[in-house]
Amino acid sequence: MLAAGLGPNTDLAADAGIEIGRTGAIRTTDRMETNLHGVWAAGDCAEVTHLVTGRSVWIPLGTTANKMGRVAGSNATGSRERFPGVAGTSIVRICGVGFAFTGLSAAQAKSEGFDPVSTRVEDLDRARYFWGRKTSVELVADRGSRRLVGGTVIGQPGAEGRINVIAAAVTNRMRIEEFAQLDLAYTPPYAQVWDPLLIAAQQLEKLLD
Ligand SMILES: Cc1cc2nc3c(=O)[nH]c(=O)nc-3n(C[C@H](O)[C@H](O)[C@H](O)COP(=O)(O)OP(=O)(O)OC[C@H]3O[C@@H](n4cnc5c(N)ncnc54)[C@H](O)[C@@H]3O)c2cc1C
Repeated sequence: MLAAGLGPNTDLAADAGIEIGRTGAIRTTDRMETNLHGVWAAGDCAEVTHLVTGRSVWIPLGTTANKMGRVAGSNATGSRERFPGVAGTSIVRICGVGFAFTGLSAAQAKSEGFDPVSTRVEDLDRARYFWGRKTSVELVADRGSRRLVGGTVIGQPGAEGRINVIAAAVTNRMRIEEFAQLDLAYTPPYAQVWDPLLIAAQQLEKLLD
């Protein structure tokens, strides 16, 4: 049986003896199995591991619902697939501007026991003579490990690409000095020679030194 898409209302699952986790969503293993052998959960009804904190979280999004569903479905038919967890990467468009997030904010990092250091820079997303538009990048790192734990990008189209770069770095536990050396693409119609991501990283390195 595959229990999918019940949303945060997990009464039906709880009544069936399925364990509900600390977030109020269905507790799952990394194989998307519930406490009942042979019963899997995926999507908005399931809690999963946060890739930064390692704790169970409920972050209902279509992107991860699809991936969880694939893992749950494969395992329900005999495979041994694993869902590693979520970074909470998301983007919304408000009044034509993209607001994108991944990992932890500085406040969330602090409440999760990290010693966060953050910085925000604002720069053009491409050359001025190609109608460069303001883009804001915030990066959050942990002081002790110098690991990047989260970021925010606010801007026009292009914000999704930048947040995805941060998401890849957060997922792979990249240190800020490694992130600052990323070999990112440049040509005036699309980008700056120093991408706002790299400028933010350099600024954060200085704060950590
Ligand atoms: C307005 C809106 C915008 C969103 N935008 C984004 C976005 O831009 N990006 C993003 O990543 N995520 C977005 N999401 C979140 C995303 O849609 C959900 O996380 C995703 O659809 C969850 O998939 P799911 O299969 O778990 O649940 P659902 O897609 O909700 O599917 C559950 C299905 O189960 C059915 N169902 C419910 N109860 C029963 C029952 N008792 N018996 C039989 N069937 C039942 C429902 O009718 C539904 O068809 C958005 C959500 C909303 C509401």
